[in-house]
Amino acid sequence: AAKTAGKRQWRRYHPELQRGMAERAKLQEGLDSSSIETSFMVLYQPIVELTSGRIAGFEALVRWPHSTRGMVLPEQFITLAEESGQIVPLGAWVLDQAAAEAVRWENSVRREGTPDRSVPYVSVNVSPRQFRDEEFYNVIQRALDLSGIEPSSLVLELTESVLMFNDERILAEMGSLTDLGIRIAIDDFGTGYSSLSYLREFPISILKIDKSFVDKLGRSPEQYALVEGITHLADTLGLTVIAEGVENVRQQELLISMGCRFGQGYLFAEPVSAEEAEHLVLSAPLGRLPGFLGTPAKG
Ligand code: C2E
Ligand code: MG
Ligand code: MG
Ligand code: MG
Repeated sequence: AAKTAGKRQWRRYHPELQRGMAERAKLQEGLDSSSIETSFMVLYQPIVELTSGRIAGFEALVRWPHSTRGMVLPEQFITLAEESGQIVPLGAWVLDQAAAEAVRWENSVRREGTPDRSVPYVSVNVSPRQFRDEEFYNVIQRALDLSGIEPSSLVLELTESVLMFNDERILAEMGSLTDLGIRIAIDDFGTGYSSLSYLREFPISILKIDKSFVDKLGRSPEQYALVEGITHLADTLGLTVIAEGVENVRQQELLISMGCRFGQGYLFAEPVSAEEAEHLVLSAPLGRLPGFLGTPAKG
C-alpha cells in the first residue's frame, strides 16, 4: 500500500517537480552567462543599537535584478552559485563593493566633520565554499588594498556549518583574518550544528541570533529564556550580540530588557541602495536612524 501511495504521490507532484527543475536549470543558465559587474547589485541593511537607533553597521545583501523575473532574492540563487562555484567570484565582487562603500561612508562622515559621529562598519556574508577556497585570504587582502578600508570596519559573516570542516585549517584561516583586524560574526546563530565549545575555540566577535528565535520571543517564557540565555552566554564570552529580523517594538523592548544591544530588521530599515545608505549615515544627528522610535518604555 505504501508503494502505491508513493507512486501516487510521485505522479501528483511530478509535474511540479519537473517545472521546478526546469526553472532551476534556467536560473542556473542565466547565472552562468551573466557578467557579475553588470548583473548584480548590493543592498545595505542598517544594524542599529537597540536603545539609541545609532547605526553601528550595515549588512551587505546581494540582489539579482532580472529583466523578466524582477528582483531575484539570494535564496533563489546563492545555492545555485555555490554548486557551480560562481559564488567565489560573486562573493569577491560583493566584498569589493561593500568595502568601497564603507570607505565612502567614512569619507562622507569625515567631510561632514561631526567628531562624535561613528562610522558604520560593513558586514559581508561569506558562504562555506568561498571561505574554504584556497584563494580566500588573498581575495580579502586584495579587497583591503583596493578599497583602503580599515580592517576593523569589515565584518565577515560565517554560518556555523563552516566550523564543522577541518578545524585546524579553518582555525588558522580565521586567525590570519582576525590578525589583520577583521571581525568574524556567526550568522543565523542557533540554527546550525551547535557545539557551543567552538565559541571559545574560534576567534569570533559577534553572534547574530537567528530571526526564528526573535520571531518567537514574546510567545512564552521559555522562548524568552532561550534568547536571554544566548545573550548572557555571549556577554560572558565577550561577544557582541545582534538580533536578526526585528519586526516590532515589542521584540525590540524584550531584547533591550535582556541586555541585547544590537538589532537588525524591518522595524528599523529594510535593505537599501548604496546611495540611500550613505544618505542614512549622513542625514541623522549622531548617526541615528531617522524616525527612530527612541528607547521604548519598559514594562
Ligand atoms: P542573512 O545573512 O541571515 O541575511 C538576513 C536576511 O533577512 C536578508 O535576506 C534580509 O533582507 C532579511 N531580513 C532582514 N530583516 C528582516 C525582517 O525584519 N523580516 C524579514 N522577514 N526578513 C528580514 P536576503 O537579503 O534575502 O538574504 C537571504 C540570505 O542570503 C542571507 O541571510 C544570506 O545567508 C544570503 N546572502 C545574501 N547576500 C549574500 C552574499 O552576498 N553572499 C552570500 N554568500 N550569501 C548572501
Ligand atoms: Mg548575514
Ligand atoms: Mg542571518
Ligand atoms: Mg539568515
